[in-house]
Amino acid sequence: MEKQLKFDLSYLQMADIWAKNSYSKRLQVGALLVKERMIISDGYNGTPSGFENVCEDENGVTKPYVLHAEANAITKVAKSNNSSEGATLYITASPCMECAKLIIQSGIKRVVYRDAYRIADGIELLKRANIMVEQISQQKIDALLKELEEEKDSE
Ligand SMILES: [Zn+2]
Repeated sequence: MEKQLKFDLSYLQMADIWAKNSYSKRLQVGALLVKERMIISDGYNGTPSGFENVCEDENGVTKPYVLHAEANAITKVAKSNNSSEGATLYITASPCMECAKLIIQSGIKRVVYRDAYRIADGIELLKRANIMVEQISQQKIDALLKELEEEKDSE
């Protein structure tokens, strides 16, 4: 298996583990920002720092101030000494329009996601901005993991 694909697979799996930190009851999303094979930031969907760790109101509706996973990862870099310029974003669900804007402005050059969101306008916007966008679906992840195991067995 190609080396980059192996890394993509690993980072996407790590983003999935990270997603489990989310307090959201509706959908847990995880994001990792990787630059030169280093994880420079991470995020999951949740409320801003200092707010209660509850994402939904009493009716189960997501609170308007919940940040998406990629927005949390990008803004975390802004607080650090790192730069997202040229980084790759790994995310368990495709970005929405609002996050796509942040991705473009933060200089991220590549986005790898797993699940397609029902509205694809965020993805369309990224493509318009010449950002490389790739989906590695759960089905593909399963196939790749199998392939990796077979490679190991034949070694
Ligand atoms: Zn979003």
